[in-house]
Amino acid sequence: MIDTSLKNYGEDVFSEREMRQHLPKDVAAKLIATMRESRRLDASIADAVAHGMKEWALSRGATHFTHWFQPMTGGTAEKHDAFLEPAGIAQAVQKFSGKNLIGGETDASSFPSGGLRSTFEARGYTAWDPTSPAFIKRHENGATLCIPTAFCSYTGAALDMKTPLLRSIQAISRATERLMDKFGKRRSHVTVTLGAEQEYFLIDRSFYLRRPDLLQTGRTVFGAPPAKHQQLDDHYFGAIRPRILKFMTEVEDRLWRLGIPAKTRHNEVAPAQFELAPMFEDQNLAVDHNMLVMETLRQTAEANGLVCLLHEKPFEGVNGSGKHCNWSIAYGGRNLLSPGDNPRDNAIFLTFLSAVVRAIDLHADMLRFSTAGAGNDHRLGANEAPPAIISIFLGDELSAVMREIETGVKGRGPKAKGRGANAGEQGMRIGVDTLPPLPRDTTDRNRTSPFAFTGNKFEFRAPGSSQNCAASQTVLNTIVAESLDAICDKLEKRGGDFNEELQLLLQRLIKKHKRVLFSGDGYGDEWPKEAAARGLPNLRDTPAAIEPLNDPANRELFARYGVLTDGEMASRHEIAADDYASRILIEGKVALEIARSMVRPVVAEEFSRLATAIGRAKRDGLKVGLRGLGALSQKLGAGLDDLHVKCERLDKALSKEDGAAIRAAMDTLRSTVDRLELLVDDGKWPLPKYRQMLFVY
Ligand code: ADP
Ligand code: MG
Repeated sequence: MIDTSLKNYGEDVFSEREMRQHLPKDVAAKLIATMRESRRLDASIADAVAHGMKEWALSRGATHFTHWFQPMTGGTAEKHDAFLEPAGIAQAVQKFSGKNLIGGETDASSFPSGGLRSTFEARGYTAWDPTSPAFIKRHENGATLCIPTAFCSYTGAALDMKTPLLRSIQAISRATERLMDKFGKRRSHVTVTLGAEQEYFLIDRSFYLRRPDLLQTGRTVFGAPPAKHQQLDDHYFGAIRPRILKFMTEVEDRLWRLGIPAKTRHNEVAPAQFELAPMFEDQNLAVDHNMLVMETLRQTAEANGLVCLLHEKPFEGVNGSGKHCNWSIAYGGRNLLSPGDNPRDNAIFLTFLSAVVRAIDLHADMLRFSTAGAGNDHRLGANEAPPAIISIFLGDELSAVMREIETGVKGRGPKAKGRGANAGEQGMRIGVDTLPPLPRDTTDRNRTSPFAFTGNKFEFRAPGSSQNCAASQTVLNTIVAESLDAICDKLEKRGGDFNEELQLLLQRLIKKHKRVLFSGDGYGDEWPKEAAARGLPNLRDTPAAIEPLNDPANRELFARYGVLTDGEMASRHEIAADDYASRILIEGKVALEIARSMVRPVVAEEFSRLATAIGRAKRDGLKVGLRGLGALSQKLGAGLDDLHVKCERLDKALSKEDGAAIRAAMDTLRSTVDRLELLVDDGKWPLPKYRQMLFVY
């Protein structure tokens, strides 16, 4: 029985409470200040911190420690070292030094570096990032102390997802401080916040083991749609089955021990699809926590005879999985995207909101890049997730406010309801007027928008379920930092009445960037046309979505903000392109292997059985059955020929390693195989079917 009383909450984290208990007073105070202010660790206290941390970890059953990092594989990495230190013959003690804690050296040669690391300099370095606390990962026979780290090459180039994220947090913090200074606010700590909603599928492990495609690629490359899937909307928010609830509570128990605030759980739209949403946290911590959430989901599923599929599109024909990234900035603990109830806070809110609008319009391409990947290509723009066009939804009330600022006059009609507007009356004056109340009701939300304002935060819905949030968060922080700086630059140049200058500035900004605002149906056929007319980019697939990394203007921007150097951008392009090409190649090979070695023998066998039966029936002069047998053998025979042709085509595309041709050949092969699935004896079909995988658990 799991203890759900929260008594164990955070027990596996080297938290402030544990620091105070296990470290000398002055050391604890220094470390806590370092963490709160996102500073580097003072080397002089490293040994003392390491000692206390080790004592704590030993008391929790740890035998090993590891630097835990996020290389550009999409996952996390760890290499364990025992605390063991020989102390004479047949004697050993447990040691852990400040040096072990602060930095590590690791063989980086097998991690993707995109040309950043030459082969003769294979070493990689990990460095503790004290803004994310150390934690303990348990397994059946003990535990491991994990130290969240950044991962760099010998020359200091980022080889991971965390380093650029930390740099981007610095960039947006500096820009936010600069703007808040203009509003006369006292210097305060900037916190970027992230709440990542995680979608996933669960299927029974016995099915999974019989699906080479799921095993090797994370998605089904074949599978006829079942008669019933999600048409009846009966799964979404439905009663959670006991087996799943048992799994979910175990996940929560593990996460809560790690201090991960898993809060919401529910059934999602597709059958066998679910969601876990934590409370938002400091962005860097939330990114680490999401990586742990994914790992915990996978491991707990395994322990329950299930498999957790985090792929963006494990099953054709039903919804795929995303990871909504809810993003905001707080200053001294106050959410800057929360509409204010006095004119000054209102002005701050509108300025930040406008800065985001400007950033997204100018850099939609980089934001789109941050969601690129072979898996997510199946999701974006497939009428179940936002399109590949990045636009912003603000809601009726806020859209009306933006129009007022742009035109200088109050709006009329239902859009401006509640503001008692008369035609021609002066619109909202920034720094003078307060905002009309904005509803925080979930019902009128536009679910089809990739980037939606949801009352006090933006919700970026394009990221895929398997992706590291750091990608999108890094881009978002950087481009908003640039917008905040651009606004500050302009305000500094003018220097007249602050409110009037700001009003003029925002008016121009909205006029210039309003094309990125869109409240209509993002799934509709009209939107791509309209978006094209507005000049918004529509980067449909991964090869297109990674091109912005090569754009000189983007290179310059990310270098100027110290987030990614020219070389790091180039390396990320190379890694993304390689990853994509490898995945497509693997999927193609798996599809071909299944079609030739699993599907074809079954179809051939059934066909030859029929042919024999037909021959025998004719010989015996049977009067009935021949029509049925003949029709079926015709279909199977034609299917067999078709299968041969499609396999040959895929084989050819694979030998040329031509990604587009492989994708096209896989699609046509799939339609043949899926047709055959419905013809062949159900008992003989070699793969578990959708109606089993999605419903039997
Ligand atoms: P829903 O979007 O389903 O209405 P919520 O509004 O509660 O649900 O939020 C969804 C996610 O957004 C949660 O992870 C929540 O913690 C997060 N969130 C709420 N406020 C903020 C914020 N200021 N910054 C970042 N994330 C936030
Ligand atoms: Mg949401």
